[in-house]
Amino acid sequence: MEKIKMTTPLVEMDGDEMTRILWRSIKDELILPFVDLKTEYYDLGLPNRDATGDQVTMDAALANKKYGVSVKCATITPNAQRMDEYKLHEMWKSPNGTIRAVLDGTVFRAPIMIDCIKPAVRSWKKPITIARHAYGDVYKCTEFRVPGPGRAELRFTGEDGSKQEAVIYDFECPGVLQGSYNKDSSIASFARSCFAYALDAKQDLWFGAKDTISKKYDHTFKDIFQEIYDAEYKDKFEAAGITYFYSLIDDIVARVIRSEGGFIWACKNYDGDVMSDMVSTAFGSLAMMTSVLVSPDANYEYEAAHGTVTRHYYKYLKGEETSTNPVATLFAWSGALRKRGELDGIDALGRFADALEKATIDTIESGVMTGDLCAMWEGETPARKVTSLQFLQEIRSRMEQALA
Ligand code: NAP
Ligand code: MG
Repeated sequence: MEKIKMTTPLVEMDGDEMTRILWRSIKDELILPFVDLKTEYYDLGLPNRDATGDQVTMDAALANKKYGVSVKCATITPNAQRMDEYKLHEMWKSPNGTIRAVLDGTVFRAPIMIDCIKPAVRSWKKPITIARHAYGDVYKCTEFRVPGPGRAELRFTGEDGSKQEAVIYDFECPGVLQGSYNKDSSIASFARSCFAYALDAKQDLWFGAKDTISKKYDHTFKDIFQEIYDAEYKDKFEAAGITYFYSLIDDIVARVIRSEGGFIWACKNYDGDVMSDMVSTAFGSLAMMTSVLVSPDANYEYEAAHGTVTRHYYKYLKGEETSTNPVATLFAWSGALRKRGELDGIDALGRFADALEKATIDTIESGVMTGDLCAMWEGETPARKVTSLQFLQEIRSRMEQALA
């Protein structure tokens, strides 16, 4: 069989632990046999980040900007325990944080739905896509512990020397203090990415923030969304028969649970971080949630929403069989290849991505799946739990049959 040719390289960012093992198997079993794969490879595994002083992460982010499309494996964000475990020179920053700071943009996370796995929320019939603002707020904050009594103040000094000041709190005891920020330009590109994505998906867009309590910070988000909607998207939304809906985040959360799904839920950075884990778990499994970062200048970074699955990796190191779910990582590859095909006018790549995703879903619907899904399986035939590799091989044989 002739392999599909590529013209532009995909930026490939390798990662850590169990997902690094899955990465290799996905390529060997499901990509390399079918695609004459062209990638520019960056090893974002923690040992190499440490060896390069984290330069490799910056290089990978810049390559993403250069070529437009990347696929990323989950990576460890170091903490004190990892410093010890990997004998690190420094507690390197989260690679996703670094990449998002370079690309800016919005992360869209959507669950992969399976007929025989019912969402925990009974009313949900269609996927809910979370659009997470991937810039600023608590992820770029400055914070410290307050040692004891004293005054905390907020001050802004303009380039022209003008000052704005306010007392935050007169501390009578030790405590904590945090300063966070966002930029109108980033909020505006967040809004535009969400409106554009909603139009593309032909789905309603919901947005919630805490503007009643945060009368400047969150209110600015609400205002910028509304201004951009009125000026640039209202007519297009009406023509497409979809709506934009803003409400308080508390109200949105309640409505999400009562809904039947099928919309985009725009969230500020922290809300999106937390809510995407809740939504993905309620839809079935963290391992069934896809994630793509879309930058305002149309760069795309595809990844799984979950982490490196450390607990499974430690078992794997002890020689135990693991049944880690590779679906979200696999869909990161199919998503990136489809986008590369779209940008380069290679239809065969798009067809391959569609076939790969279909073969994956068909495999699960036939009752063959990894351990995490078995507990939720409601199909007529009993679920057959397989290892990650057996699962990938099952998908491969479906692909080969489909192509034969
Ligand atoms: P995690 O890797 O997402 O795993 C948490 C738990 O969720 C696992 O122990 C497992 O549950 C279940 N799970 C997640 N993905 C699964 C899969 N594909 N198949 C089966 N089960 C899956 O989160 P974590 O353990 O909190 O974090 C581990 C490391 O990942 C950390 O070092 C963190 O920094 C990093 N991380 C990276 C990213 C990223 O690169 N995007 C995101 C989040 C976390 P059971 O153990 O019950 O089976
Ligand atoms: Mg999270």
